[in-house]
Amino acid sequence: MDSQQFREFGKAAIDLMADYYDTIRTRDVLPSVEPGYLLKLLPENAPEEPESWKDVLNDFSQSIMPGMSSPACTELEVVTMNWLGKLLGLPEEFLNCSDGPGGGVIQGSASEATLVGLLVAKNKTVHRLMRNDPTLNEGELNAKLVAYTSDQCNSSVEKSGLLGSMKMRLLKSDPEGRLRGETLKNAFEEDRAKGLIPCYVIANLGTTGTCAFDPLYELGPVCNESDVWLHVDAAYAGAAFICPEFRGLMKGVEYADSFDFNPHKWMLVNFDCSAMWVKNGYDLINTFDIQRIYLDDVKTDIKIPDYRHWQIPLGRRFRALKLWTVLRIYGAEGIRNHLRNQISLAQHFAKLVREDDRFLVEPEPSMGLVCFRLKDGDIVTKKLLENLTEKKQIYMSALALICNS
Ligand code: PLP
Repeated sequence: MDSQQFREFGKAAIDLMADYYDTIRTRDVLPSVEPGYLLKLLPENAPEEPESWKDVLNDFSQSIMPGMSSPACTELEVVTMNWLGKLLGLPEEFLNCSDGPGGGVIQGSASEATLVGLLVAKNKTVHRLMRNDPTLNEGELNAKLVAYTSDQCNSSVEKSGLLGSMKMRLLKSDPEGRLRGETLKNAFEEDRAKGLIPCYVIANLGTTGTCAFDPLYELGPVCNESDVWLHVDAAYAGAAFICPEFRGLMKGVEYADSFDFNPHKWMLVNFDCSAMWVKNGYDLINTFDIQRIYLDDVKTDIKIPDYRHWQIPLGRRFRALKLWTVLRIYGAEGIRNHLRNQISLAQHFAKLVREDDRFLVEPEPSMGLVCFRLKDGDIVTKKLLENLTEKKQIYMSALALICNS
């Protein structure tokens, strides 16, 4: 979409809203559609080719407006999260359209998704242990739970331990910045020997510092053998799995219990939109379902979820609308082109830096991220960054170095 089309789309959307206000007195306060109506109306897959904004706006008026406010909001989220999960090549179990209890939910941020995973893991672990031995004390069990991730994790991962009152161990990554299965296994054993209980693991697909990918095929079996919840934080790099050539980097994803990435980072969706999938929605409901008479609970159907049980806030935004709009306006092919173009720009930039032998590109560029420094050391590299920032022609960021390199 070019800037002229964007202008026209924006104006047409404003007209639609103004017409709504002009006719508000003629409208019912509740929709007249049946739950499930939108699931039947929309296609099962995202479009491959870009579509015209006029068609998108027309479908919004014809299909979505009659279901406002909800079930349209919930059902569009179910549909778009199925579309997106399929585009990423996630295992069927994560999708609402599969036979099981899995499904997607749009959170506001990867931080929230990591925290949701932690709270669910905590609830599930404590209840499993108390079912096996009813004499156990819930408070004492909670104090023994441990979460694990790598020393390359994003700050938000460490924060989830603080918010959820769970000890979080940042395990040493290998020279490529990856958390290995053996390291995790040893940490579980050390903690069990101290009477602690391994509960939650956050694997990183695309670390913030160097865009390293933890091997899920190593971490997954270690977690599954110990009944430990495995959450995948793919906040930035997850978008790349829309391109089949990168899916090898999520090998072992079938072991995970939850997976999250941010379409608002690299997939052209406006902030905020964090796409999270779980294999079993009942784990979330069992953790977060609190009833009140004013919430007028309709019996929860896992296929048309009551998303308030899948997240931290009670109220929610209609985030699926922008995700649906982006998926239609770009089409899967348009998004793949965008991602591949950015990766090739990063490769080109790395090539230019390498041509100047004052610089070292290290580690190898990964996705759209290129890490480089001056061979003369950190002090001059920092000075260069300060000079570049001052000029305001280009913006770069100082990223974490791998501690053990
Ligand atoms: N995880 C990774 C790997 C990130 O790079 C980031 C942000 O840059 C986050 C998590 C946090 O994302 P959010 O701001 O959506 O909480």
